[in-house]
Amino acid sequence: SIFERINEVEDKIGSFVYLDKENALEQAKKVDEKIEKGIELKPLEGIPVAIKDNMVSNGEPTTASSKILSNYKGIYDATVVKLIKDEGMILIGKTNMDEFAMGSTTKTSFIKESKNPWDLERVPGGSSGGSATAVAAQEVILTLGSDTGGSIRQPAAFCGVVGLKPTYGRVSRYGLIAFGSSLDQIGPFGKTVEDVAMFMNVIAKHDEMDTTSLNIETPDYTKNLNEDIKGLKIGIPKEYFIDGMDNEVKKAIENAIEEYKKMGAEIVEISLLHTEYAPSTYYIIAPAEASSNLARFDGIRYGYRTENYKDIKDLYIKTRSEGFGDEVKRRIMIGTYVLSAGYYDAYYKQAQKVRRLIKNDFDKAFKNVDVILTPATPNTAFKLTDKKSPVEMYLEDVFTISANLAGIPGIVIPTGKNKNGLPIGMQLLGKHFDETTLLKVANNFE
Ligand code: GLN
Repeated sequence: SIFERINEVEDKIGSFVYLDKENALEQAKKVDEKIEKGIELKPLEGIPVAIKDNMVSNGEPTTASSKILSNYKGIYDATVVKLIKDEGMILIGKTNMDEFAMGSTTKTSFIKESKNPWDLERVPGGSSGGSATAVAAQEVILTLGSDTGGSIRQPAAFCGVVGLKPTYGRVSRYGLIAFGSSLDQIGPFGKTVEDVAMFMNVIAKHDEMDTTSLNIETPDYTKNLNEDIKGLKIGIPKEYFIDGMDNEVKKAIENAIEEYKKMGAEIVEISLLHTEYAPSTYYIIAPAEASSNLARFDGIRYGYRTENYKDIKDLYIKTRSEGFGDEVKRRIMIGTYVLSAGYYDAYYKQAQKVRRLIKNDFDKAFKNVDVILTPATPNTAFKLTDKKSPVEMYLEDVFTISANLAGIPGIVIPTGKNKNGLPIGMQLLGKHFDETTLLKVANNFE
């Protein structure tokens, strides 16, 4: 079983924060029995899967890798969990992440460190680091992550796997512990584009429990994968080739562009004018929403509660001071600041306007092109010991966060390795709800 592989590598990699071997094996046995009896299985029935630890599952720990939820167990299934179970897939456990999905390294996890399988001294990326490493280290073939500003795509790039952030509203967020509700989206990791497409067929369903879930039909995401891309227009935004980006990353993307030309795609230079404002816009909006979403962790309703307190106010303060890590506190403080009466107009409102400009850039670009090709990250995976300031870390997200601000889908696929053997990722961005084209273009590259 896959647990042999997990036993072999998990101590080194640290993908999981929770594993339920017994239940998994029991379920696998039932699937075996079905096979013996000749009962037809659903496409992904019996396939093991792991999910990021910010998705609630009934009766199981769901911690968001935070101390404040360290003793919390889910009391219902997130919609994606329900869909996984309905398909007969086997949920084997939960994967490590940056606390409340805030970060790009998985190092802000309260529980443990995860390591990049290609170089154990390097970060796997984040915040869905454990979901990326679990696939890269071949512990499990499919996982789910969540992506608020790149948390599926950046770790996919660093670990050399495929990661898809679907269109906002495509996959239900019901049961996902909210970070930035207008940005968050659940999506799959896999080794191949086809695996990811198959998994999308399971999780991309309309859900009445999520008011932002769009009621549109689920296409068969595997159907068009092998169509060619002759005449398809691929936009290359000049703003995504910035000073200071890694030369080998740039070369790999240029090679990919050449490959696509050979396949008959038309390469079009485009401009996404407001790209440089994306990080500052995101780092106002995401913390603003986070500060509001995280208000519910008060030590009363669920999760960790401080031991000694004088009164209710003291209980709140101590619980939250002890329960949240530094990065989460930083975001709560930034968020409450930009939403406060005196600063709302100067920061939050302004950021909302720039967000619209960023979305308009994409709308305009997609009038002329079918997909947009960019690097996924400015660099390959950095060292676990690298000390980056919060702002340096935030700037790492420059290529991924615009997709969340605009609500469009984005996929990252491996495009090769640098001279040290570290994976390089390329990103394809698509029109709203056009995951089908994204997957096709990605699959043609593989
Ligand atoms: N790195 C970004 C952040 O720290 C993105 C996180 C995410 O997508 N969840 O906010």
